[in-house]
Amino acid sequence: MSRFLHPQYAGLEAYTPGEQPRDRQYIKLNTNESPYPPAPAVLAALTEQDLADLRLYSDPEGTALRAKLTELYGVEPGQVFLSNGSDDILNFTFMAFGADGAVFPALTYSFYPVFANLHGVAYETVPLREDFTLDVAGMQGKGKLTVFPNPNAPTGIALPLDQVEAIVAANPDHVVVVDEAYVDFGADSAVPLLQKYENLLVVMTYSKSRSMAGARLGFALGSRTLIQDLEKLKYSTNPYNVNRLTLKLGQAAVDSDGYFREKAREIMATREKTAQALRALGFTLPDSQANFLFVTHPKVAGETLYRKCKEKGVLIRHFSDPAIAAYNRVTIGTPAEMEAFLAVVQTILKEEGA
Ligand SMILES: *Cc1c(COP(=O)(O)O)cnc(C)c1O
Repeated sequence: MSRFLHPQYAGLEAYTPGEQPRDRQYIKLNTNESPYPPAPAVLAALTEQDLADLRLYSDPEGTALRAKLTELYGVEPGQVFLSNGSDDILNFTFMAFGADGAVFPALTYSFYPVFANLHGVAYETVPLREDFTLDVAGMQGKGKLTVFPNPNAPTGIALPLDQVEAIVAANPDHVVVVDEAYVDFGADSAVPLLQKYENLLVVMTYSKSRSMAGARLGFALGSRTLIQDLEKLKYSTNPYNVNRLTLKLGQAAVDSDGYFREKAREIMATREKTAQALRALGFTLPDSQANFLFVTHPKVAGETLYRKCKEKGVLIRHFSDPAIAAYNRVTIGTPAEMEAFLAVVQTILKEEGA
């Protein structure tokens, strides 16, 4: 830290992204990326003219892409907000709507407390139930900005829509953010509730199901006035925060919506097969509606599994939080990658005498 840093940030603990090592080729099951490339139309979308046009600023309104998303999700114009990945949107959300504090689950996306601290938003966390499901009653009527992913991370457990609605309905005077980063892998989206609740903000990303993590594109759907608030902060920070190329790629992805939904179904099928195989090997894991599994084994410590997988060329995600030290989060890759992972796991179980 330099002596120039604003004291407000001196104690800030930054988010730790999943490791992206370059020392060797790994089977990468640690950051919930898609194992499949983006849609063919995305691969073919950029022309030399698009590259030449990089001399120009991007459309700060993302007009063409917003129009396509408006149609795809059946919302009104003015209900779509675009940004540089959904983390960027979550950042604006804590900045915009955290005046009375925030509440989120105790075990969830570890970026939420970072945003809260960054913007001086006091926050409270609600413990999950014993079986890792969200405590819906505990999240209701808090009188604060309320944020949760559906499905939750890193558990992969989804809330049914009526329970999502119960949380939204119980907090009418505060924004409720449903972070749907993983919704395309089998959960119910809260988008149909948008007509009924002006305090609901649904946040989505191109990073997971749409295979475009590196493009950095996220969007939020909400009531017009909520979107206006987010726009105000975006225009006060970085109006051109979605670059020209990404806007164009984003449009191509919407045009081939069926492609990524098909890939999501493949990932879900691989997930179910992998879950079954892991249970047969003695692992315990909740049913996942996401593109990852949250796994523990009674005879192998979580950190050991993580370390030995890495030694053998497979990266999975282990978290420092002592409450989940026994667990690892395993992203669903291709069927071949998951077979390789399962073979490595079997070797480790043998080595550990499990
Ligand atoms: C991956 C993820 C995001 C953010 O993704 P972006 O790449 O910034 O769009 C947001 N929320 C959750 C729960 C995630 O897992």
